[in-house]
Amino acid sequence: MKLEDKLFLDRYVVDSIPHLKIKDPNKCVMCQKKQCLYTCPAQVYKQEEGKIVVSYEGCVECGTCRIICSENLEWKYPRGGFGVSYKFG
Ligand code: SF4
Repeated sequence: MKLEDKLFLDRYVVDSIPHLKIKDPNKCVMCQKKQCLYTCPAQVYKQEEGKIVVSYEGCVECGTCRIICSENLEWKYPRGGFGVSYKFG
């Protein structure tokens, strides 16, 4: 089963308040590594016109980006009742 197929099995209750926030978008422009673009399993981070765009709605709350970009990312779990729920474990 491909990753995309597994992600399709997840269900989300999307909060109107983002739980992921870039503290300083200018730091992302200057960042040489841009690890968020290729380590997030849900492809939440995209680069558009040189800027990093965060589609927090698809986050599976794995915490990877929290570790790789702790200095420029404000990371919280979604509020109670919101976020991802795993249908099959
Ligand atoms: Fe992607 Fe995991 Fe970070 Fe969510 S917590 S944005 S799924 S790396």
